[in-house]
Amino acid sequence: MKKIKNYINGKLIHPEKSQYIDVYNPSIGEVYALCPKSDEHDLKIALKSAKKAFNKWKNTSNEYRRDIVLRIANEIEKNKDKFALAETIDNGKPINDSKNIDIPRSIDNLKFYASSIINNSSESHSSPNNAINYTLRDPLGVVACISPWNYPLHLLTWKIAPALVMGNCVIAKPSEVTPMTAYLFSKACIKAGLPKGVLNIIHGTGEGIGDKIVKNPNIKAVSFTGGTKTGKIINKAASSLLKKVSLELGGKNPIIIFEDCNYKEMLKTTIRSSFANQGQICLCGERIFIQDSIYDKFKRDFVKEAKKLKIGDPLKLTSNQGAIVSKQHYDKILSYFDRVKENGAKFLIGGNSKKITGKCSNGWFIEPSIIENLERSSECYKQEAFGPVTSLYKFKSKKEAIDLANETEYGLSASIWTSDLSTAHQVAKMIEFGIVWVNAWNLRDLRTPFGGMKDSGLGREGGRESMLFFSEPKNICINYN
Ligand code: NAD
Repeated sequence: MKKIKNYINGKLIHPEKSQYIDVYNPSIGEVYALCPKSDEHDLKIALKSAKKAFNKWKNTSNEYRRDIVLRIANEIEKNKDKFALAETIDNGKPINDSKNIDIPRSIDNLKFYASSIINNSSESHSSPNNAINYTLRDPLGVVACISPWNYPLHLLTWKIAPALVMGNCVIAKPSEVTPMTAYLFSKACIKAGLPKGVLNIIHGTGEGIGDKIVKNPNIKAVSFTGGTKTGKIINKAASSLLKKVSLELGGKNPIIIFEDCNYKEMLKTTIRSSFANQGQICLCGERIFIQDSIYDKFKRDFVKEAKKLKIGDPLKLTSNQGAIVSKQHYDKILSYFDRVKENGAKFLIGGNSKKITGKCSNGWFIEPSIIENLERSSECYKQEAFGPVTSLYKFKSKKEAIDLANETEYGLSASIWTSDLSTAHQVAKMIEFGIVWVNAWNLRDLRTPFGGMKDSGLGREGGRESMLFFSEPKNICINYN
């Protein structure tokens, strides 16, 4: 059985106490690897090495850090098929997605921040006649990057890259559910010549090691992506130590469809925004609001298109729906379905697990599911399901659509489908979401601020926002009179 190692002080090492967690291949429901169950002993040596590396790393030139990060990106690129295969085996997502989304996006994150550091600038403010202020943006020190399982390498690199180019040293903790590509990533860092201690990847559970990282006073900031409940726990612990936190959390995102939209494009994209990555994307649309004049047509066509999705072995190029990441998450989605049924709502399709024949017969698969008549007062309406499930609702007016979109505690992302410019602008302005797409979904540009309002997070990542987060501003005022 393959044993994953921690990456500490430039080396791949076993956890001090030699304790491990089972890692499952969700498409066959079997353990295929072991992941370190690290604890504070492992953190102690990682911190020692990161603190030692920091003084040198922070004083390296921007060009040096750019080159190293680019070399890491190139290492992934050289082994992209290996990375994609590992992501699919670990997570259950279709191999096409790993090849075309996860791994290219991970490479893009590294390349983007490598070039950003070269183009980075800080502010200067001139006061007429007497003074000039300029602002230094220094690295913070040793920072933590804690990532989830839905885009394992993509979300890990999205945090690590800006932290490193800004001159910080990093303690990263990938999800214990999907640790494999982080392990391959540590090998890429060694090959690329990343100086020892600059990045340390410690594997383990949230409670066993994540919590220890957050509470350690030597960690100056925590960048976290994961569930809202976990985010609140982290925020509480970090705020008592006056630590900087960036929290990218859950969503219950609305898709608002007006009768005048480009119907064909909307339908195609709404299938993706509901079921891509088995619905396990924080940006997925779990609430679809359709203008009443096209509700019946949409319902018919949407169900027809969802039925065409091919669920099966994620390693087959023909599958566009793979397995659910873990037994625990699979059970959680099925219990959500039970509650939806108890509430008297109707599944237009799905609402069940899916049996696959052959090699994947013990895997964790769930049918794409569409709900109608879900009571908006029910917990299921308010909670994130984070699976291949969405629900349909009618609206009449713009005002009603806005009110419906805003009525949950989440505020991550929304899509608006209309060909009317003023409707698009008015609705985009009035809805309370950090990311709003008009006639699109998940159309990404790495320069833009990314993150949610309300229970969906705190702060923004992406582009310059991440570089600001991973730095401490120091303003210097010069009186030249
Ligand atoms: P999770 O909160 O269970 O775990 C995320 C990470 O935090 C894991 O590495 C986990 O080990 C660690 N962790 C857990 N408890 C911890 C603690 N007390 N202290 C420190 N670390 C701890 O989330 P998950 O199940 O891995 O991911 C799914 C969730 O992530 C969904 O809610 C989804 O919406 C959200 N998500 C949000 C975004 C975004 O950008 N907003 C992106 C992807 C996923």
